[in-house]
Amino acid sequence: MSNDKPPLHMVDVLGQYAHIQDDIDKAVLDVVKSGQYINGPAVRDFAQELAQWLGHSESQPVHVIPCANGTDALQAALMALDLKPGDEIITPSFTFISTVEVIHLLRLKPVMVDVDPCSFTLDPGAVAKAITDRTKAIMPVHLYGQCADMTALMTLAKTHDLAIVEDTAQAIGSGWSLGENHWGAAGTMGDIGTTSFFPSKNLGAYGDGGACFTRDAALAQKLKMICNHGSQKRYSHEIIGMNSRLDSIQAAILRVKLPHLSNYNAARTAAADKYDALLGEHPMITVPYRHPRSKHVFHQYTLKLNNRGEGPGLRDHLAQHLTARGIPHGVYYPKPIHKQAAFADVVSESVVLPHTEDLTQRVISLPMHTELTEAQQERVAQHIQEGLNSYL
Ligand SMILES: *Cc1c(COP(=O)(O)O)cnc(C)c1O
Repeated sequence: MSNDKPPLHMVDVLGQYAHIQDDIDKAVLDVVKSGQYINGPAVRDFAQELAQWLGHSESQPVHVIPCANGTDALQAALMALDLKPGDEIITPSFTFISTVEVIHLLRLKPVMVDVDPCSFTLDPGAVAKAITDRTKAIMPVHLYGQCADMTALMTLAKTHDLAIVEDTAQAIGSGWSLGENHWGAAGTMGDIGTTSFFPSKNLGAYGDGGACFTRDAALAQKLKMICNHGSQKRYSHEIIGMNSRLDSIQAAILRVKLPHLSNYNAARTAAADKYDALLGEHPMITVPYRHPRSKHVFHQYTLKLNNRGEGPGLRDHLAQHLTARGIPHGVYYPKPIHKQAAFADVVSESVVLPHTEDLTQRVISLPMHTELTEAQQERVAQHIQEGLNSYL
């Protein structure tokens, strides 16, 4: 409507780049000039620096195994766990497609269960009910930047001898309080954690990238082999692997960005606080729940609309209102995985996940990134309020 205002973005990768442009440009050119384009020193150094950032120490080691993207990281994690076809993996349906996709590709059985309606993460009670003697692993997704209830999930895993693979694609830098003075970094509490460096993620590359994390040296070794054609020694292949590498130029970019990650996450959290203050009182919306035991790093700032069971009407109205005024917004995710056509033959029609199905009709995410200004947020909030108040 008003053409005089600078455009708002869901994610502002160029605005962020402008602050670090000299360092990034130099890092990229250094790789180009080095001639070491595959698994060069940038990849090795980035893996070590990220491990340190995640809290690596002699007594509490963290191993980082870089790979090509977050989906490959999930696949490598499952391949490392010695599973057999038909083994059951419990995971949410209110998420991106990757977890369920790789489970099925490896001929394992995805068992999708419901999420907690406040935190939007895996409901441990639902997980407990879904455990059978074929269950081998739980794959929680730390959705929107907040950890699933790792205390409850780790207790279940221990009791039933299950592995945990944490999908930390949206939550790098988040964590969970495991007890007094015992803090778990997201992705380092389960057997394996995975993340993505997709450009819009909290630690985004300028292309694709991903990584696995583990505290277990043997698993780390195996993951490394899996991402390198099952090989430790050239032309000697001990296990079936894949070709999944973090690109050297992306690693160099990530090395520049990693020292800024804490500030980036703090900027997102400050923006979330501001949205809360602007929108928290409105009776038609619920601002993001913050679990007292988790640190939220706000990959997304996602409102839950308080519509009264009438389907997505209120959200459609609000989305149209925002679109007409040039206010970006997103719906993550409009359709649960268990209802996707691709999984029609995989998932029984009897699977009903009430909270998941309800949330897919009620969530809407607002612009969230490191470059948001208060004036921009006020503009977003004003149009949200107008949109809600014009819904009859
Ligand atoms: C982004 C994302 C992935 C996949 O990451 P890619 O790098 O795009 O493969 C997996 N899981 C979740 C929850 C994500 O948000």
